[in-house]
Amino acid sequence: MFSHLCGKNSLLSSIPNFTKRFICKSRPMANSRFDYVRNFEQNDSILPNCWIVVRIDGKAFHKFTQKHDFNKPNDDNGLNLMSYAAVQVLKEFNEIVLAFGQSDEYSFIFHKTADVYSRRASKIVTCVNSLFTSSYVFHWGKFFEEKQLLYPPSFDARIVLYPSDENLRDYLSWRQADTHINNLYNTVFWKLVLEGGRTNTEAQKDLSGTYSSDKNEILFSRFGINYNNLPQMYRKGTILLRKNVEVPKLNGYQTQLIVPFFTDLIQDKFWIEHPEILTKDKSQNYELDDEQLNHPIMQKQFDIVHKRKNNNK
Ligand code: ATP
Ligand code: ATP
Ligand code: MG
Ligand code: MG
Repeated sequence: MFSHLCGKNSLLSSIPNFTKRFICKSRPMANSRFDYVRNFEQNDSILPNCWIVVRIDGKAFHKFTQKHDFNKPNDDNGLNLMSYAAVQVLKEFNEIVLAFGQSDEYSFIFHKTADVYSRRASKIVTCVNSLFTSSYVFHWGKFFEEKQLLYPPSFDARIVLYPSDENLRDYLSWRQADTHINNLYNTVFWKLVLEGGRTNTEAQKDLSGTYSSDKNEILFSRFGINYNNLPQMYRKGTILLRKNVEVPKLNGYQTQLIVPFFTDLIQDKFWIEHPEILTKDKSQNYELDDEQLNHPIMQKQFDIVHKRKNNNK
């Protein structure tokens, strides 16, 4: 009905974009006797000035990873696909300052000043979750070339607010400590099952009531594994940050990409090295190390930059 007003050469072409969008999108005044039902919708705007955490977690991934024959306890392609789906979320929502992932979960941290969807909780949590889920499915084939996706996976999601920087850091420390606890357990469990000749139930029994030191000892004495030498990605999870980085093979060209880190975030060091997370200052210039340079989620981002540059030639 308003299309003649909103076209390229229309009356509205001289009006600022945000005003135009409002005029084009706004609906006429109440025009049916049914309109009152809108009043039943609840305002779910969340508190200002609090850190917003959205955490998604795979639904029944114990079964999903079994059905899709994931390597146990850590399937690298599975973990990297999760991270690549998370990269798509960070690219879409520029107020996310950090994401942390492990196993079948990812946490997205929106800066406390974020104004995304006017801070409406259900808009935020549903849009983050559906973009993550569709990206996981959309990019599946890039990580599992030979493996068909057998059925559509789904993820649950929740939104939690943290009023102080300390609460936020404690939240992330909690998730990273959980990564370590689960990974240590799963590493011993699968060694006992896959190499120790124990059934799942027996391995579970063997481990019940054991402390970390006992599990480390089983790994070392029975399987010759020093837990601390396992890849950091398994033990610490994946942290995603925005950084200005140099793209290889482009003569020093720099751009902002989403970079994975596999470091401790519990100690102060991490927060001193990456001050822009809390201050939301501009992304820093960052020199990628070899592990980051060769990581599949960086390689895929480089490919996109290369393609864009070639198309512009
Ligand atoms: P928002 O993110 O706020 O929902 P939106 O662009 O999705 O923004 P809606 O009010 O949801 O806005 O409108 C959906 C738009 O998609 C309309 O412009 C509608 O014409 C178009 N659309 C949806 N389904 C179809 C379809 N099957 N065929 C053609 N157009 C469609
Ligand atoms: P829920 O629906 O309650 O979340 P769940 O089966 O997903 O149930 P979680 O506690 O979320 O249970 O555990 C996730 C499961 O997925 C664990 O069993 C974990 O070992 C497995 N898993 C997730 N990612 C991987 C991966 N990359 N490689 C191997 N296993 C994985
Ligand atoms: Mg799960
Ligand atoms: Mg989980």
